[in-house]
Amino acid sequence: MKEKLLKKFAELFGNTEGTKVYFSPGRVNLIGEHTDYNGGHVFPCALTIGTYGIARKRADRKIHFYSMNLDRFGVVEASLDELANQEAYGWANYPLGVVWAFHEKGYTLDTGFDMVIWGNIPNGSGLSSSASLEVLTGVILCGLYHITDLSMVDIALIGQYSENNFNGCNCGIMDQFAVAMGKKDNAIFLDTSTLHYEYAPVKLKNARIVIVNSKVKHSLVDSAYNDRRQECTDALAALKTAADIETLGDLTVEEFEKHQHVLKDPVLVKRAKHAVAENQRTIEAVAALKADDITRFGELMNQSHISLRDDYEVSCEEIDILVDLAWKTPGVIGSRITGGGFGGCTVSIVENDAVDHFISSIGASYKEKVGHEAEFYTVDIGEGAGEID
Ligand code: ADP
Ligand code: MG
Repeated sequence: MKEKLLKKFAELFGNTEGTKVYFSPGRVNLIGEHTDYNGGHVFPCALTIGTYGIARKRADRKIHFYSMNLDRFGVVEASLDELANQEAYGWANYPLGVVWAFHEKGYTLDTGFDMVIWGNIPNGSGLSSSASLEVLTGVILCGLYHITDLSMVDIALIGQYSENNFNGCNCGIMDQFAVAMGKKDNAIFLDTSTLHYEYAPVKLKNARIVIVNSKVKHSLVDSAYNDRRQECTDALAALKTAADIETLGDLTVEEFEKHQHVLKDPVLVKRAKHAVAENQRTIEAVAALKADDITRFGELMNQSHISLRDDYEVSCEEIDILVDLAWKTPGVIGSRITGGGFGGCTVSIVENDAVDHFISSIGASYKEKVGHEAEFYTVDIGEGAGEID
């Protein structure tokens, strides 16, 4: 990949002297969905697919962005003198937002830069290509401008800040954290209320992680995401009148059941129930993994799906078809929706010798039921973002 990037960079910007090359992964969340903005736990891991970037400082104040995935945008030109989101910039608003966020946090760049990227994460499918691109930009800026006092967690937080405030997506911290802090063969058990984290080796013995992209994205996704956040905020405000809590993640399922009568709206009961139970499931799932109990881990993934489908109501027909098919397929240890919802991907744990059948049989049934092909990725857990040789 590096050669392709170098070639493109030279073609666009003359030569490759003084360039640096970086990689930033995508991520998949194994369990703990819609808990990251509720002060709960999440359990994501970085993938070996991701976004590659090559960059070099310029002498003037221009910033150039080029994506080899989106040639039609050509070279997008922005300037350090006008760091504002512009529709015409398209995808480049993600990296530009990170430059803006660096400035907001006091890391002012003196000159601009040229940057070329290429990625192999399906975009808009819940594997966090946006966070990958933001964290990629963060590590590039630290590398090019010799910024040494920002940790990888700081870079994750800056990425989230830019996605929230420059790109208008109210995402939690999970995605950028996983992308920045990933570790080969490990998932990250992260408490999103304290940012305390722990690596847990994902020892699946004779099984693999298989991601299936439904290739649907319902337009509901952004508005519903913001609705869910509001519902959780409302539920928390009401529950605070009964319990001494800061977040929904502070409640156990038993405590929630004791206090849930303060929620007058049955919809809020369902939303809060998911946030509380999913957090507890995540804690239990990590304990199961540590105890080598993959079967229990899989059961908890299945329960997570049911809760997201019935209580949080963020699944959709196509995703439920994929998960139902997976549940009926031999050798599947667990399967659930992953990511924000309303389309995107499922994540499954599948025994090695069942993977080929999983892909062929679910592929055929999905096409027959939905009318288009799903995409399958048998993935490995990789490192977080950084410079590559
Ligand atoms: P997700 O993060 O789930 O993949 P988002 O909608 O949050 O979905 O982010 C996808 C967007 O990120 C794309 O529409 C594009 O603007 C940007 N993006 C991600 N990867 C690339 C890439 N390789 N080249 C250009 N833009 C990209
Ligand atoms: Mg995203």
